[in-house]
Amino acid sequence: MQVQYQRILLKLSGEALMGDDAYGINTDVLDFVAGEIKGIVQMGVQPGIVIGAGNIFRGVAGASKGMDRTTADNMGMLATVMNSLAMQDALEREGVITRVMSAIPMQSVCEPYIRRRATRHLEKGRVVIFAAGTGNPYFTTDSAGVLRALEIDANVIIKATKVDGVYDKDPVIYDDAVKYEKLTFDDVLRQGLRVMDAAGIALAKEDDKPIMVLNMAVADNIKKAVCGESVGSLITS
Ligand code: UDP
Repeated sequence: MQVQYQRILLKLSGEALMGDDAYGINTDVLDFVAGEIKGIVQMGVQPGIVIGAGNIFRGVAGASKGMDRTTADNMGMLATVMNSLAMQDALEREGVITRVMSAIPMQSVCEPYIRRRATRHLEKGRVVIFAAGTGNPYFTTDSAGVLRALEIDANVIIKATKVDGVYDKDPVIYDDAVKYEKLTFDDVLRQGLRVMDAAGIALAKEDDKPIMVLNMAVADNIKKAVCGESVGSLITS
């Protein structure tokens, strides 16, 4: 297999890291994904990774119970740092050199996010995990993923999640849901498809950055995606 996308931004859903557990990080899932990432690093791919925190805490969930939204979002961002450290640990146990860079500086735990330093790490073959989202409340890690993809000039954004692509309606609820192999940013925005939040889609559209959506639990899916194989849904202009 020939690598088509050399530098990628891999957005990992926090929720998918739970596996079948009700909360937190499932180490089997974590180790599996780390193995998949090691596979693409060995092929010469330079991955930047953004991890969500739906397995631990989401700001909107806290706010819906009366919490101050900004405080809740700050907690959500801190939860992404926990997931990032867990992924760093899993990758380093696989022998993959990594750096965690946080949008909220916490020097004794990881590096602060500095774009030039991030691209240098990638050039040197280190996997960079971008923690704490964008560093701002009222955003999601999907938007953070697109933002970092643009900053590091990734060739593609791979959104690795629990579902195997974009459907016209929720495939968990509807048996007749139809999967899109290819669709445009405007399809997503106009039909309100729940791929990622509109801010992230709009940002990707503006810079014409393709987004692939795939199931991260299927072996070799990420490898096939970086080789340009269709394993989920592809969103382009
Ligand atoms: N978050 C934030 N700003 C960001 C990114 C994330 O405030 O730039 C917070 C927000 O509360 C969000 C939580 O972090 O709910 C976890 O991220 P997300 O919901 O995107 O995780 P995922 O759905 O990918 O698991």
